[in-house]
Amino acid sequence: MNSKPVIMIVDDEIANIEMIGAILEDDYEILFARSGEQAIGIAQCSQLDLILLDVVMQGMDGYETCRRIKLDPDLANVPVIFTTGLDSVECEIRGLSVGAIDYVTKPVQPVSLRCRVSNHVSLKRMRDQLANQALIDPLTGLGNRRMLEALLAEEMTRLARSREELSILLMDIDYFKQFNDMYGHLEGDRCIAAVAEALGAAMRRGGDMCVRYGGEEFACVLPRTGYDGAMHLAELLRSQVEALAIPHAGSSCAPVVTISIGVAVRRCAPDLRMKAWFETADRMLYDSKNEGRNQITGIQFDEA
Ligand code: GH3
Ligand code: MG
Ligand code: MG
Repeated sequence: MNSKPVIMIVDDEIANIEMIGAILEDDYEILFARSGEQAIGIAQCSQLDLILLDVVMQGMDGYETCRRIKLDPDLANVPVIFTTGLDSVECEIRGLSVGAIDYVTKPVQPVSLRCRVSNHVSLKRMRDQLANQALIDPLTGLGNRRMLEALLAEEMTRLARSREELSILLMDIDYFKQFNDMYGHLEGDRCIAAVAEALGAAMRRGGDMCVRYGGEEFACVLPRTGYDGAMHLAELLRSQVEALAIPHAGSSCAPVVTISIGVAVRRCAPDLRMKAWFETADRMLYDSKNEGRNQITGIQFDEA
């Protein structure tokens, strides 16, 4: 987030791009596009902080380009400032009504443009930061349940299309109430953070994700992973938490902090919701607890 903000200048006149670019190039990384179509293509594969958009262009005009940007959930958050030679109130209102944040007329006044761009980029970065914070658990730095649900919903659509397997692991620290009672809540927090770090570090495959699901509960999502792979990773996670060797005199299953794990595996299909995996994993976790804790129970539930 500390890198130079990235701005795209969209204008069919190269002279305009050069002029606006010269005003902003010291403070921003500048990309440019010569048409609305090109602008949307570039925006979709760049992390833009702001778009400066001409109105009158060959092909798709600026209004339509802006409207499409604002309809795309991945781009809607990028502020658009119209830069145009059209200075009627009607044009300005039209620009603002399709979602632009600001409207400046050419020839642009350099200092004014720099201020407007800087203000809107600051606000955009603040919004990004807040959106990001809403998905991250502050104690552990892992994603939270909201992040899991957002990413998993997208992932499941892809997996369902190709009927691929998905494994979910639910993990819960054993006798954690006793841990808090014996060592205090602050030490409890430290323990949760240490367990989280061990779990997070074990996610080595792209697409695998571990989040803090609740208080002392964690969840792992393993796309394209079948029963054997999921059980193997679960055992790795269980043993790595045990290997942290955090003393737990209040535990009835081990002298150190341990976790129990429930594993649910099945092939994705379009009509299946993530709830099916979580309910199954939760039942498996319950079995692990009942069987004595510090262990793993898993099921391939395709036929269940
Ligand atoms: P089990 O082995 O069956 O899982 O027993 P448990 O004691 O771990 O289960 P229980 O669900 O009864 O207790 C969970 C405890 O976790 C209770 C709650 O106070 C504690 N806890 C939840 N979130 C946090 C947290 O953020 N920090 C700390 N220190 N404790 C937490
Ligand atoms: Mg619990
Ligand atoms: Mg517990």
